[in-house]
Amino acid sequence: MSKRIVVLGAGISGVGAAVLAKKKGVDVFVSDIGKITDDNKKVLLNNEINWEEGKHTLEKVLNADEVIKSPGISDKLDLIQQLIAKDIPVISEVEFAFRYTKAKISAITGSNGKSTTALLLGHILKHAGYDVLVAGNVGVGFALSIAERDYDYIVLELSSFQLDGIQNFRSDVAILLNITPDHLDRYDYRLENYTASKFRISENQSELDFLIYNVDDAIVNTIKTKAKKLPISLKTPQKEGGFYNNNEITINLNNNTMIMQELALQGKHNVFNSMAAAMAARVFEIKDTVIRQSMIDFQNVEHRLEYVLTVHGIDFINDSKATNVNACWYALESMTKDIIWIAGGVDKGNDYAELADIVAEKVKAIICLGENNHNIIDAFKKKVDTIVQASNMKEAVTHSYTLANKEDVVLLSPACASFDLFANFEDRGLQFKKAVYNL
Ligand code: ADP
Repeated sequence: MSKRIVVLGAGISGVGAAVLAKKKGVDVFVSDIGKITDDNKKVLLNNEINWEEGKHTLEKVLNADEVIKSPGISDKLDLIQQLIAKDIPVISEVEFAFRYTKAKISAITGSNGKSTTALLLGHILKHAGYDVLVAGNVGVGFALSIAERDYDYIVLELSSFQLDGIQNFRSDVAILLNITPDHLDRYDYRLENYTASKFRISENQSELDFLIYNVDDAIVNTIKTKAKKLPISLKTPQKEGGFYNNNEITINLNNNTMIMQELALQGKHNVFNSMAAAMAARVFEIKDTVIRQSMIDFQNVEHRLEYVLTVHGIDFINDSKATNVNACWYALESMTKDIIWIAGGVDKGNDYAELADIVAEKVKAIICLGENNHNIIDAFKKKVDTIVQASNMKEAVTHSYTLANKEDVVLLSPACASFDLFANFEDRGLQFKKAVYNL
């Protein structure tokens, strides 16, 4: 009997998985409850893949031997529960694509810093002359790329949702950056459930694999693994691992020490991300000179502490990707000038208390831009004299320009999701940049 795979959700990962399945000669059907984009429909048509949209036809889904589910679909959905009840395996695109690659893999997870670290590690490996795929949440689709050809190295940015759908997936080098509350709505509002998902990054690793992890993070530090543990720290020296001291990163591995001083990326969190990427590159035996040079010439990633422009002595920084409080803390922390802070959006249950001290110390004025302004106003009205509201990005940028003096910095670092006024965080960042260029 030939195998039938059903793909639920026709986004980049779903369509990619379907194309890969088809190329491998598997019977595949794609079902999406919403509308499929024209581009994705074209890919399905070109590859002669059957699909439906606007519904899930039960007879066509429940007869699957295996289901590949988009990370956006919750396990709580009735259809998924029916599949589980029928013992039909429900896996993620990552699990599926993993079966068809022989590349060395580094998988990166954490609440913040995944994309930056993945792109940085990809940059180092490319610099070293390897054929590298950076995929997952950043870059291109994992399965779609593997459907074309295989690579020397694959660097994967994995969200907790993608990790929820793995069975045998394992990486040679796993990186666990940090764990702070995020997406708890999908985990019954229990941090331990979200943590358990993140810990799956190392679940299938063996003694021959490596786990690079944030030893400063009390939650991360409790991870159990068979892999060789390589701790990294911003605080304490590590004999076998990485640490930061006196503006220097030290990477210790197998009695070999590498020191790095110059980094393209600014901010303490980026020191951490750089350390994680360098540690992984050392495990892959990349030369020190290549790693050091890559750290210097890496181009910052758009929407992450991205310098936009200086207008009349006022710097404008786009950190639209800061969709939670922790990311925002690091952005505020890394500013060296007085801050006019543009914040707000869809608040996922933020606890702003963590920002109280740093805001009192560094923020001159707040511009609230979003749905949950009252939360921000309540949290900071005793800390900051000037708090104003804006109903769109153009207005927010105009207010910020009026409130700022020469030598100040205007920082868009919302600490919130963007789905109220914007299509996504990219749209929010682009609108910010456009408004700044039009000042
Ligand atoms: P992710 O892919 O995990 O969302 P990104 O690299 O896109 O992470 O960065 C998301 C946001 O978090 C940005 O605003 C960035 O400045 C901030 N950030 C990056 N690395 C870290 C880190 N290690 N700890 C905390 N915040 C970080």
